[in-house]
Amino acid sequence: MSVEEVLLELKRRVQSKLPPNINVTGIEFEGPELVIYTDDPRRLADDGEIIRSLAKDLRKRVVVRPDLKVLADPEGAVKKIQQVVPSEAGLTDYYFDGETGEVVIEAEKPGLVIGRHGATLREITKLIGWTPKVVRTPPVRSSTIANTKEYLRSVQSERKEILKTIGRRIHRDVASKDQWVRITTLGGCREVGRSCMLLSTPESKIIVDCGVNVGSDDSATPYLYVPEAYPLNQIDAVVLTHAHLDHAGLVPMLYKYGYEGPIYCTQPTRDLFVLLQLDYIDVAAREGKRIPYESAMIREALKHTITLNYGDVTDIAPDTKLTMHNAGHILGSAICHFHVGDGLYNVAFTGDFKFEKTRLFDPAVHSFPRLETLVMEATYGGSGSTQPSRKEAENRLLKVVRDTIKRGGKVIIPAFAVGRSQEVMIALEEAIRKKNLAEISVYLDGMIYEATAIHTTYPEYLNNELRDLIFHKGINPFLSDCFVQVESASQRTSIMEGDPCVVLATSGMLNGGPIMEYLKGLGPDEKNTLVIVGYQAEGTLGRRIQKGWNEVPLSSGGRTQTVKINLDVVTVDGFSGHSDRNQLMDYVRRVYPKPSRVITNHGDESNCLDLASSIYKKHRIPTMAPMNLETVRLI
Ligand SMILES: [Zn+2]
Ligand SMILES: [Zn+2]
Repeated sequence: MSVEEVLLELKRRVQSKLPPNINVTGIEFEGPELVIYTDDPRRLADDGEIIRSLAKDLRKRVVVRPDLKVLADPEGAVKKIQQVVPSEAGLTDYYFDGETGEVVIEAEKPGLVIGRHGATLREITKLIGWTPKVVRTPPVRSSTIANTKEYLRSVQSERKEILKTIGRRIHRDVASKDQWVRITTLGGCREVGRSCMLLSTPESKIIVDCGVNVGSDDSATPYLYVPEAYPLNQIDAVVLTHAHLDHAGLVPMLYKYGYEGPIYCTQPTRDLFVLLQLDYIDVAAREGKRIPYESAMIREALKHTITLNYGDVTDIAPDTKLTMHNAGHILGSAICHFHVGDGLYNVAFTGDFKFEKTRLFDPAVHSFPRLETLVMEATYGGSGSTQPSRKEAENRLLKVVRDTIKRGGKVIIPAFAVGRSQEVMIALEEAIRKKNLAEISVYLDGMIYEATAIHTTYPEYLNNELRDLIFHKGINPFLSDCFVQVESASQRTSIMEGDPCVVLATSGMLNGGPIMEYLKGLGPDEKNTLVIVGYQAEGTLGRRIQKGWNEVPLSSGGRTQTVKINLDVVTVDGFSGHSDRNQLMDYVRRVYPKPSRVITNHGDESNCLDLASSIYKKHRIPTMAPMNLETVRLI
């Protein structure tokens, strides 16, 4: 049956299930969803049961949207919303999403927009046709999110066409009678960086992550040119575990070389992705490095991005369903679970994950409906790679800061903009608030502030304690006065000449970014301390300094100068967003159901091999630590 015929048939079935007074004006596959258009969406929306039974019956994700005809024009709609909502609600913004017929209303007091038992919301729908959704005004406004929304609004109609094309492709007929599932390793095996896997079946090809190895010039990109993956227009979907560059850094490049399909990720991943990509090409340009794609390709990627919530089961190919689960690593990070065929096979890719509660996140999800193969990271997979507890790590950090301050020095901490920075920020803020640390300034340089703003926009992705602190106790640690955003080179100079303080700056492995300026300025003075809190990949300057190099070449403006590293270099382990050896082993012990195969990746060679062999010895689960360019048949 052609997709047109399928849609006609679906429309007939939908109409027959609905009460006769509800009129279906259109039906369409848009991305993974089946969208039912009606001129009276409220009647359908009021009766949640109809939609649930439709979805169950049709085995599709069903959403109901108002026919565009019944929607008021946004300008008039805003006026009407303002008339109905009491002014104390503090309305701050409106986002009309023509794709969904939803208007997202931002207010300081969302409760007043909702009204008693939702009365105000219903009133709004009646007046304007759009479906209102209320969110709390984020305490720190992220310009990345604002720009992303603005951009998506500007390409709404084009995006609708893209979603339709994707939708039709997902719901095409299954042609093959063969049944097999394979994984081809395109990058990130026995190494950290350029993570990229291809999951293939007779029907579909899905790329999981497409990262860049920022520490390497000659092996920076995954093997995308192999016949399994190339030409790229045969790929059905790209799925992102999280926004870090070693997992998502080359996604825009795919569009340059012929990929036209969707990217699936969580909403925070989408926003962090934009932030990190823009910074990546910006830094590369400033340092005169080769840039694999232009910013137009980032917009192209954004146009093709479909966001999913944790737990949404989503058709992404005719024979494959994807579900994302919290990975506890960074904001929006996901363990991606694929269900292939009708009960044929289940495989989960952990991406980077943390199996311990942190200041920001709950531990990674370890329970799945079914699981045969687990592909897991092995960053700290070696038997010696245990890490101190979070508490010990925090105490150690505070001691280093106190000691440095006492001798009149400054502490510089290279950090990924996303992840470690926020963990360290919260630890320092609490110490200052509880008077365990003097009232010093903590400077945030290079995107950290913006990344933090994105965190405050998605409190539902943070753990309970932090949400509770923010919403119920009224303490938002991210907004503390101790944090100062650095905005100019002259401010940097005065910080380096000023009082003892802490500076958190990117990049996390000292391969570019404003941290280099601090290293140049503060490196020669032994009163200062460089605190390393994150993983330093082989080949990065961070790793070299960690190994004890006391002179490093730093380039600026095309000239290279040698900088003496006299400052104290202290590695404080335990802040990592990765599971340490114990947590990795513990995860395999607790993951449910027990998988019949474990594949390790994302770790140095010895770590991948050691973890794989330890898992086999301890749990008798067949394991492997493939090299890049291997293909493994799963079934
Ligand atoms: Zn990561
Ligand atoms: Zn990673």
